[in-house]
Amino acid sequence: MNQDYIIVQCPNCGAKNRIPAEKKGRNARCGRCHTPLTVGPYAGASAHPVHVTDATFQQEVLKSPGTVLVDFWAPWCGACRMVTPVLDQLAQEFSGRMKVAKLNVDENPLTSSRYGIRSIPSLLFFKNGTLVNTVTGALPKEELKRQVQAIL
Ligand SMILES: [Zn+2]
Repeated sequence: MNQDYIIVQCPNCGAKNRIPAEKKGRNARCGRCHTPLTVGPYAGASAHPVHVTDATFQQEVLKSPGTVLVDFWAPWCGACRMVTPVLDQLAQEFSGRMKVAKLNVDENPLTSSRYGIRSIPSLLFFKNGTLVNTVTGALPKEELKRQVQAIL
């Protein structure tokens, strides 16, 4: 029988564990050192932010399991450019456990107005499709990280 596997690297010993995809979202342990592994809902998925639009927001954010962080941004916004590398880093650090998405407010007015976005960058945290937190402005990475950890 064919089965999909995902590779989860152990944070303790660095071993690459092959874990059945059906275990996504559940707990596992490293085969070498038995350190608990985080096999989040996005295990094996891209560790880079995904671009979402009015058309894909429902599927990519509202119907996505676990935690999704959405950055409402625009190309002309200077503070947004400060947040971009932070989000790239968070997408890496929380890869497998959280999805990071970016929505261009100029190109996607429907979603922006639905959530009452008045200033950017605005970072919206969704958990299982429900908006649970909103952060406005370019916060330092450590502060954002703290907010993510509070939700995960
Ligand atoms: Zn290990």
